[in-house]
Amino acid sequence: MPAYEAVIGLEVHVQLATSSKLFCSCPTTFGKPANTNVCEVCSGMPGALPVPNRQAVHYAVLVGLATNCIINRHSIFARKNYFYPDLPSGYQISQFDVPICEHGFLEIAADGSRKKIGITRIHMENDAGKNIHLQGENLSYVDLNRAGTPLVEIVSEPDMRSASEAVAYLKALYGIVTYLGVCDGNMEEGSFRCDANVSIRPVGTTSFGTRTELKNVNSFRNVQHAIEYEIARQQDVLEDGETVIQETRLYDAVKNITTSMRSKEEAHDYRYFPDPDILPVEISEEELVSWRAELPELPQSRGARFAAMTGLPEAEVEVLVQSRGLADYFEKAAARADAKKVANMVLGPLLRECNTRGISPSNPTAWAMKPEALAELVTLVNDGVISAKIANDIFSDLFDAGVMPADYVKEKGLVQISDSAALEASIDEILASNPDEVAAYRGGKTKLISFFVGQVMRATKGKANPSLVNKLLLQKL
Ligand code: ADP
Ligand code: MG
Ligand code: ZN
Repeated sequence: MPAYEAVIGLEVHVQLATSSKLFCSCPTTFGKPANTNVCEVCSGMPGALPVPNRQAVHYAVLVGLATNCIINRHSIFARKNYFYPDLPSGYQISQFDVPICEHGFLEIAADGSRKKIGITRIHMENDAGKNIHLQGENLSYVDLNRAGTPLVEIVSEPDMRSASEAVAYLKALYGIVTYLGVCDGNMEEGSFRCDANVSIRPVGTTSFGTRTELKNVNSFRNVQHAIEYEIARQQDVLEDGETVIQETRLYDAVKNITTSMRSKEEAHDYRYFPDPDILPVEISEEELVSWRAELPELPQSRGARFAAMTGLPEAEVEVLVQSRGLADYFEKAAARADAKKVANMVLGPLLRECNTRGISPSNPTAWAMKPEALAELVTLVNDGVISAKIANDIFSDLFDAGVMPADYVKEKGLVQISDSAALEASIDEILASNPDEVAAYRGGKTKLISFFVGQVMRATKGKANPSLVNKLLLQKL
């Protein structure tokens, strides 16, 4: 039995965060009553004239620039003809021969090494509406609110060789579009969704096997599982002496399986042709220059900079840069206190608080606790004003109240006792009331030191400076 390797290419649909649709002025707001964000253009009435949304063009170019693509300053919208009830015009407006961006790449780190994944093309297109099949009713509804929403489709080369590489690529892409602010990144609402093309071939061969396409896998975890399942399924098929059929398959996250949905259409089935109603998209040299100048620092370079600032390993830095909001928050705090300690405060107590409250860490501007407060808390611990334990204990209160930590600890009387005279009295008392332990310690059970430290901490309600307690105890014992 030969060993197989997987070949994976991804098609990612990114919903652009414009306020209006791609070819009309209807709003793109999610969750409105059915068919309220609809006009004659996006409902496909004959004779209605689509006009491209310049903001969508701008956003598509930003994605292309951030993924090392060539930008075609002249590109064309084409009709992709097919029938589906949620597509009343009978065609999707997409790009075919000349997409807006092509020949790019992304660098990923996965399975312990770095590699480049080619990006074949990025084209603009409009989304379809939604068919709604209500349970228990023997009919279906069509909601056209989403119809005409601007998308870019980012098509990769078949360069990935494992589910982990596919997920790393997808996360890199997700980081880029959310940092650019061209996508709201809401995967549950379908703003960022992925079709995975998977085939396998015997290791050492160069031609590709027949692929299947896994549709709309809507979380990173599901992408990982769907691809792993599909690789194993195709191996079983080949090992049984059968052949893989080119088809579209659906991933069922509950059962963790893929099932056949339909056999795959070929491009010629769509009879693409240039849309006669829409002028080619032209981008001037000046526009391109000014859009390039807008590119923010992207997650990868920001991560490298944070790693240098904090000395933390890549996996932890990745958490810090996972959203632009959190990275900005960290960076503001790190400008005012020890960067590594700020990072640990973010990665520990801060993310814990987000987690217990079920809030996303990507939107810190909404929090009561400002980065200045986090920095001040770090400094209070650093200067020995409060212990790390107290900082941890009061974090939740600070996060909710948004008060400055220095004021808070003063008001609550939490300032650490770093005065030897004050501590000595308490230590003497504890030694006097635990004569057996003192004798055992002096007889060689030096591990008992932590017992004494614990007693002092209890007596001082956690406010004693632990290193000072240690020092004094050693002197007295
Ligand atoms: P379509 O538009 O019909 O889905 P494309 O030729 O645009 O087809 O390819 C779509 C995706 O499939 C691309 O991401 C490409 O890298 C990937 N792909 C093509 N051939 C294979 C293959 N044999 N195995 C895995 N992925 C493939
Ligand atoms: Mg496809
Ligand atoms: Zn409309």
